Amino acid sequence: MKLVNFSLGNGAPRAGLLADGQVFEAPRPTVQELLADLSSLRTTGKGIPVSEVTLHAPLLYPGAIYCAGANYADHVAEMARAQNLPPPQDPRTLGLKPWFFMKPARACVVGPRSRVARPRGSQKLDWEAELVAVIGKSARNVPLEKALDYVAGYTIADDLSARDLSRRNALPPGNPFHFDWTAHKGFEGSCPLGPWITPAAEVPDPQRLAIRLWVNGALKQDSNTRQMIFSTAEQVAHLSSLATLHPGDLVLTGTPAGVGAGRNEFLQPGDRVEIEIEGLGRLEHWIDDER
Ligand code: MN
Repeated sequence: MKLVNFSLGNGAPRAGLLADGQVFEAPRPTVQELLADLSSLRTTGKGIPVSEVTLHAPLLYPGAIYCAGANYADHVAEMARAQNLPPPQDPRTLGLKPWFFMKPARACVVGPRSRVARPRGSQKLDWEAELVAVIGKSARNVPLEKALDYVAGYTIADDLSARDLSRRNALPPGNPFHFDWTAHKGFEGSCPLGPWITPAAEVPDPQRLAIRLWVNGALKQDSNTRQMIFSTAEQVAHLSSLATLHPGDLVLTGTPAGVGAGRNEFLQPGDRVEIEIEGLGRLEHWIDDER
């Protein structure tokens, strides 16, 4: 069973349960209210074929969106090559903890089949397929071995990135305001999400999932979540040491190799992006003209 937000005709989105190709009304109006206890959910009433509904982002108003940076070894090496930097050291050998930036949630999250406008001034809009952990219970200072107990389920995101808006080159790289993570990663529509939330009970090991991304049908990313440097559990445990994680918060766990920056290929208006993660479905979206 999957958690969705769906609508019929011009109706407002509401929470639903997807099972066997049919969408059923959920026992509570929002997906966020369902996250605390997914084990008790059962479908009731008459289902509607999923082909007859519009699916929306599985969380319409997520809380915080934490995004891991540089968390797949193959991607870190690729980005260093793209920037003519030497091969990076393993962050663990440097004693480093996981590293995150954030996206403004309500402005960034869009649902399956959305059209995302390329941000103004960007010619280097890039894709990043990511596994997303959806927090189900408040988590504060949780130990590593308990961290996944606070994850209600998993979904898919595209961490869209405007590479050419990431630096302010009038300032030297050593200046703390040289990098602009908000312009780079936090623009309108920069977090396509979905198509649904798969309960954690249906995901035996989040570190053993194939992850793939296509642009206009051409395979660009083809990896596995076992390539992560810091596991999903390590990320949740570390974040919970910084601040309370709340139900409906999202953790985007990083992207593998194969992004556009490593190939000098970028998304153009009209392009179609598809991301598939083993057992979690397929998220599809389009790129539109600047608005
Ligand atoms: Mn990312």
